[in-house]
This record gives sequence, structure tokens and C-alpha cells, in this order.
Amino acid sequence: MTHTFSMTNRTPKHDVIRDIPKRAMVIFAHPDDAEIGAGATAARWSAEGCEITYVQCTTGSSGSNNTDMTSKRIVRIRSTEQRAAADIIGVGEIIVLNHPDGELEANRTFLKEIVYALRKYRPEIVLTHDQHRIHRFQHRDHRHVGTTAQDAVYPYARDHLHFPEQIIYEIKPYKVKHLFFWGGEQPNIIVDVTDSINTKIKALAKHESQIAGLSFGSDMDLRIREQHMVEARNYNFKYGETFRRLTART
Ligand SMILES: [Zn+2]
Repeated sequence: MTHTFSMTNRTPKHDVIRDIPKRAMVIFAHPDDAEIGAGATAARWSAEGCEITYVQCTTGSSGSNNTDMTSKRIVRIRSTEQRAAADIIGVGEIIVLNHPDGELEANRTFLKEIVYALRKYRPEIVLTHDQHRIHRFQHRDHRHVGTTAQDAVYPYARDHLHFPEQIIYEIKPYKVKHLFFWGGEQPNIIVDVTDSINTKIKALAKHESQIAGLSFGSDMDLRIREQHMVEARNYNFKYGETFRRLTART
């Protein structure tokens, strides 16, 4: 009996993103989230001339299973790891908002901070956590970052009567074009990251306190590659990173 591939299996489902933005911002809860969610895309874009800014919303002060570890020490360790990872990705500035890990609220204080970052750095694309995950658990901080980033893009950063005290000198109202959410269950776009997958893994390996034993050829390396290969299975490239794109209202 002869089996033929059905067209549905062979037809790409997501838009393939080929344009490289001039400026992008990755907004994430904890050190390592940015590389896990969007590291290969950020590395590719940065290599192709995009200016990438990170906004790290918490200090990562609860990220340790070691009972001898203190919050103060883990914050220092993770801050060094995050800078090293960002250097590999090609990120310029890392804005650290200093909220305690696990205590991030989607409130007006946090919204104001994100609005200010958007108005100051003016990214065309914001990459962040998908807040809408229904089949798997999602860290509360991740949900609050996704919600607040979306709210900040529309309407708060765009409209001058929101946080008007920010609008002075070079800080102007600003309209982000797209949000790319990672970690959700309904992605609709994919980025070819075949040339930057190694950079993602190298950067992730810098987060030693969180991801021990990651090196080229390790089991974890193979698992990460496998996941990105599965994401790209309907496309004519080897590795992909998928997102749910939301385009801001005009
Ligand atoms: Zn996290």
C-alpha cells in the first residue's frame, strides 16, 4: 500500500517572519526567561543589525533549590549570568526593574515602568511571555509580565494622556507595531533560527545556577534542538522559534 503525504501536513501553518526590525525589546520576568523564550530570534536579529534591549522585571531572588542559598547571593549570581548570556545574544542594555521574584503584580506601578521603557527605547517589536496558557501551569510573574506588556503597548504608551508626566524632552508617546508572545499554545508565526540556535544554547548555558549541565552535545542540548526542529517541521529550514503575534491597533 502506498502512503502519500497529505497536503495539510506539508502546508506551513504560520507566517514566516523574515523582516528584521531596527529595534526590539524583550520583556521577561526572571533571568533566563528571555533566552528560553526568544533567545534564538534575538540572536539572529542582533547579528543582522537589530538593536535589542532587555527589560528584566524581577531580580530572580527566589530561583534556587539549594537550601543554603540566600536571596541576596542568588540575585548577584543571576545578574552576572544574565549579563553574560545577553552579551552572547548581542543585547545592549538590560533594564532591571528590581521587583522581588514571585511578587510581581500587574498594577499601575509596573505598568508605568513598562510604558516608560517603551517610550524611551521605541522598539518596533516587543517579545514577551504569553499570558494565555490554559493547558499547562504558568508562573504567576510570567502572566503578569505578559498582561502588563500588552497593556503598556496599547493604549498606555501610545496615548499622551496616559502617564503624561513622562512626556518631556525626548520621551514621547510611542506606538509599538507588534507583540510576539512566547510559551503559548496558539502560535501563529515562526522565525527561522537555524543560524542562531547555537548562540541560543551558548547563552542559555551561562545560566548555570538554573540550567546545570548544558553544553553542546549534552542531553539538554539535544532536547532543545529537538524542540526547535519540531517547531520547524513544516518549513524548509531546520530550526524554528514560534510566537503568537498580536499587531497593535492603528
Ligand atoms: Zn521565569
